[in-house]
This record gives sequence, C-alpha cells and structure tokens, in this order.
Amino acid sequence: MLYKMKRKLNQNLINLIDYYNLTNSNYLFSNLPLNRFTEKTSNTFAFSGSKIQKLEKLRKKIESIKNCELKKNANNLVFGDGNINSKIMIIGEGPGANEDIQGKPFVGRAGKLLDKMLNSISLDRTKVYISNVVNFRPPENRKPTQEEIDKYLPFLKSHIEIINPKIVLLLGSTALNALVGNEEVISKARGKWIYKEIGANKYWLISSFHPAFLMRQPEQKKLAWIDLKMIRDKLKI
Ligand code: URA
Repeated sequence: MLYKMKRKLNQNLINLIDYYNLTNSNYLFSNLPLNRFTEKTSNTFAFSGSKIQKLEKLRKKIESIKNCELKKNANNLVFGDGNINSKIMIIGEGPGANEDIQGKPFVGRAGKLLDKMLNSISLDRTKVYISNVVNFRPPENRKPTQEEIDKYLPFLKSHIEIINPKIVLLLGSTALNALVGNEEVISKARGKWIYKEIGANKYWLISSFHPAFLMRQPEQKKLAWIDLKMIRDKLKI
C-alpha cells in the first residue's frame, strides 16, 4: 500500500516536472530569487511602470550590455525617437556616423529621405516612433552580424512591446530578417502585411526598402511609394 502510494507520488512529481519543462519555466528548482521586473518572457523583458518608466528601464538595460564590440566602438547609444504613443513604429538597421554623434536614429542623409517619405503620407517624426535593430553604430557602417542581431533582438522586441504600435514598418533586409525570418528577401517580402506575434502582442508588420538603398537605387522609390500608401490606408481603418 505504502509502496503503491510512493510510486503514485513519484509519478505525479515526474509529470509535474515534465509539465514545467514543457512550459519552459525554470523557477521550480531554482535557488535564485525571481526578478519580476526584468524577467525574460518569450525573449522579451517585462518591465513595470508607466510607458516612460519602462522605456527608461529598457534604455538602462541596453546601456549595461557587456562584452559588445558595437558598444565598445560607439560614442552614443541610439535608442529611439519620436512619438511614444504612435500607431507606427519604424525599425531601421543600425545607427550611422551622424546618429552615433547625436544619439538619435535617422538624422543623417538616409534620415532626410525617410522624412520625405513620411511627409508623402502626411506623417512626420511627431507622429511616428523610430528605432533600429541594433542600438550602437556598427564600425565602418558595416551590417550588424547575426550574433549582434541576436544579442539585440530581445531589446528590440521589448521596445516594440512597450511602444505597442499598430503597425511596424521594417526598413530594409536587416530589420525584415531580424523580425520575420532569415529566409525572407526584401524584394519579395516588401509591401505585404504580416500579422505577427512579438512578445505578448500581435502587430501588423510591413517591410519596405531602406532609404539608404533608395538613395543608391532611386528607380525603386515607386515601389516604396506603394508600400507607404498601404500604411496610409491601413491607418484609416
Ligand atoms: N540607417 C539606419 O538603419 N538607421 C539609422 O538610424 C540611420 C541610418
């Protein structure tokens, strides 16, 4: 009888452990205290407080990154800019030289073109929020490596969760690949809506050409214009 009870108890315990493993919970047998303020949930960080407080906590978390070549070589953290209550969040690749000096995204030549693109659908920086896949300038303006993208992705996802826009505009292949997947090609994926879960919420994602690419290939601007109109129409709904 006792033996039977013990066996049943053991099996229940095994089932419980299996269940916790399945749900990826690590708190059952952890000696560490649970940090409810910066707990990682599905690759994002859950911060408490108002939107501004959450953004400040996220900024501090990025500032405290260790062993990062990008951070070591950069002058400033380039976090975000614009209207934190916007329905549109725009994601670029990474800061360039001007952004690194000013600590703001898209303030150089590509930024000027982005401003014109936004103006074409009656938007400006007071109506959108802008950030990048990586928050420190990659040396020589090179593309961020996969390792760097992976390192910054939880921060980007948290950033999106905090801003909680309706639409996320991914500018260029780095942003597209980071948030949608490496198998995507910008020339094929651009101008198509994807309703995707990021962290705890779902967002309408759309990708388009990066303004720096459009400066090199101005004939592609007509396609970017189509993508912008899709955003304008979605905002009307
Ligand atoms: N290019 C980007 O992708 N982001 C910036 O902030 C500036 C240029």
